[in-house]
Amino acid sequence: MSSSSLLNSSHETSSKLLWFRNDLRTNDNPALQYFINQSDSDTTAQAIFFVSEPQWLAHHWSDIKIDFVKRHAQALVSELAMLNINLTIVTVDDFNAQVDYLKHYCLQNNITNVIANSELEVNEQQRDLAFSEQGISLTLFEADVIVPKGKVLNQSGQMYKVFTPFKRSWLAHIREFGFNYLGDATAITNSKAIQNEQVNEQQESKESDSISNKWPLINVVMKKAMPQFYRDKISRYKTNRDVPSIKGTSGLSPYLAAGVLSPNYVLNSLLNKFPDILISSDSEEFCWLNEIIWREFYRHLMFDQPRLCKHQCFNDKYHQSVWPYDKELFNAWCEGKTGYPLVDAAMRQLNQTGWMHNRLRMVVASFLTKHLLLDWRLGEKYFMQHLIDGDLASNNGGWQWASSTGCDAQPYFRIFNPITQSERFDPKGTFIRKYLPELSKIPDKQIHFPHKYIKQNHLSIYWPAIVDHKEARLNALAFYKSH
Ligand SMILES: Cc1cc2nc3c(=O)[nH]c(=O)nc-3n(C[C@H](O)[C@H](O)[C@H](O)COP(=O)(O)OP(=O)(O)OC[C@H]3O[C@@H](n4cnc5c(N)ncnc54)[C@H](O)[C@@H]3O)c2cc1C
Repeated sequence: MSSSSLLNSSHETSSKLLWFRNDLRTNDNPALQYFINQSDSDTTAQAIFFVSEPQWLAHHWSDIKIDFVKRHAQALVSELAMLNINLTIVTVDDFNAQVDYLKHYCLQNNITNVIANSELEVNEQQRDLAFSEQGISLTLFEADVIVPKGKVLNQSGQMYKVFTPFKRSWLAHIREFGFNYLGDATAITNSKAIQNEQVNEQQESKESDSISNKWPLINVVMKKAMPQFYRDKISRYKTNRDVPSIKGTSGLSPYLAAGVLSPNYVLNSLLNKFPDILISSDSEEFCWLNEIIWREFYRHLMFDQPRLCKHQCFNDKYHQSVWPYDKELFNAWCEGKTGYPLVDAAMRQLNQTGWMHNRLRMVVASFLTKHLLLDWRLGEKYFMQHLIDGDLASNNGGWQWASSTGCDAQPYFRIFNPITQSERFDPKGTFIRKYLPELSKIPDKQIHFPHKYIKQNHLSIYWPAIVDHKEARLNALAFYKSH
């Protein structure tokens, strides 16, 4: 445990502490709002955030995600100062150390109530349970979804096992009960809000060598990128969302995954722009909302089935399955050396930028699980270790969808052909050439599977395909049929 000097006796009169976790934001933060309402505005209130890198690494967080979260924690210090809240960032190893630290902090500072937003994942919940057993009350709010988890149920009172009826019911819930968007706690005075923006912009310029710096802080995104997305891109989302060479999607996933952006804020801003969106399900804009509802679906599902946190297959049929393991095949996939250009370019995008386009996530996940017949959990872990937007529920949902082991998953016999996917979604090879400069001179028509062309033209490019598509497809069908 470090930073023990931060335990300051001047906090002794305080009886409440705000504990930030996956919710480093002032906008639509129910724990923060409650804390402010309960606090005496004349005295400085105390908040805490733990940086626990060994714990995060044990949960396979990527370096870029860690950096991104730390930047947001740092930015929040100055935002909260404007609300007369002192945010202390404490470095400890793991969840046990967090509990120990908090317990001592609360005893020394006469804190009887800790206020926080709940977290979905099992280990986080166990940590909270361990803390609440220390005799200090822990008041939790829900801040990671729009409709509270456990409230979208079928007629038998069960969680839906298919997305479309979940979505219908989710929309009906919003139409009937609305949703509770709280606004921004710092928007008390305009001058404070302006100062706040200035602080964030200054911070942006200071942190230019940070590994996640291509992703600006959330306040900048809310001010610039989101309005721009609504103005210029959302009306073509349905058409452009599948083309990896076009920036046709919102790029909000790192912000939602790290909890620095509230899903309520997203829906509220969307409704402000498109008031009919909840009833216009054919529109381009709704197509985007649909993705936000997928996010909700996977979180509600994990809440209903905590075993998913432990990486169990959703479909019981696959509980005992043993996937063959081949280190060389796995390494080739990780390094973008499968010989299938779209797969390889996608993996290089992930390795180089910490993000991958959704269409490509589906293609590479299908390739790993069906063409290489590797366990989906290997891919799930690799994604978490490299993505800036790594999120247990969405990542697990995506991987189990692709491997056909999941809830409302891709049927096992639907196996993406990486060559036709490439011809369809990157017809001129624009995306491929960006990440595979080795193939830059291959003509458009041949770039999707360039082996014959390389051979016929005696090019000095080594690009072997590690599996044959037809053969791999038949192997996958046989494997899945045997269950
Ligand atoms: C194998 C696989 C793994 C994935 N792992 C993750 C992950 O770790 N973290 C993550 O946030 N998303 C994950 N996704 C979902 C999706 O690929 C990303 O959310 C999306 O690419 C992010 O880009 P965007 O913000 O521009 O999305 P947009 O297209 O603009 O969508 C808006 C938001 O909706 C949500 N969303 C979009 N698609 C999905 C989806 N299929 N499932 C759940 N939520 C979705 C995201 O929060 C996203 O930011 C995964 C998908 C697959 C197939």
